[in-house]
Amino acid sequence: MTYICDMKIVFATNNANKLKEVRQSLSSIEIISLQDIGCFDDIPETANTLEGNAILKANFVTKNYGCDCFADDTGLEVEALNGVPGVYSARYAGANSDSEKNMQKLLSELDSKTNRKAQFKTVVTLNLKGRQYLFEGICKGEILTEKYGKKGFGYDPIFKPTGFKKSFAQMTLEEKGSISHRGKAIKKLIEFLNQLKS
Ligand code: IMP
Repeated sequence: MTYICDMKIVFATNNANKLKEVRQSLSSIEIISLQDIGCFDDIPETANTLEGNAILKANFVTKNYGCDCFADDTGLEVEALNGVPGVYSARYAGANSDSEKNMQKLLSELDSKTNRKAQFKTVVTLNLKGRQYLFEGICKGEILTEKYGKKGFGYDPIFKPTGFKKSFAQMTLEEKGSISHRGKAIKKLIEFLNQLKS
């Protein structure tokens, strides 16, 4: 099943916040969720790179549900921790971790560090008509010393993008989408899809 011609495409994620962000950036294309195609599986994310996990997720959906789709994987890379938590960002505080525990662990690891530089990196994999395409987006910034803001998700309250005076969690969806790692990767995906149409 190819949805692109109808300007509909499946986004292979179970993360409602990501769906909201991507729907906001990709308003010219209808984003179909996994629920919409009847997929309630826990898709494995067992690769040790962001690229590997994005490919695993997209291929799972294409193989099991027979449709074209795109998937993303995101990691927070902290310079003073040699790129950690990176691909392990979701489970940084352990197998049963959640965003709160992950942020607390990161804040305590950086307690004694003056270098607080970090970047979010997103890799998007698009499976389309038997071919696979990768798009990347990076957002540089720093880890704050405490949480600011209530919007967004994940590490947003402790991440301040370079050139801004507020955290991702203090930004609207639109503001975050215009500068974020995922927003940039999705912009590349849109440009690619538009070029196919013309
Ligand atoms: P994944 O891409 O869903 O595997 O995300 C990995 C981890 O990074 C999870 O803990 C997410 O909550 C977190 N994360 C992913 N994207 C963002 C974001 O845009 N802001 C803050 N945290 C994020």
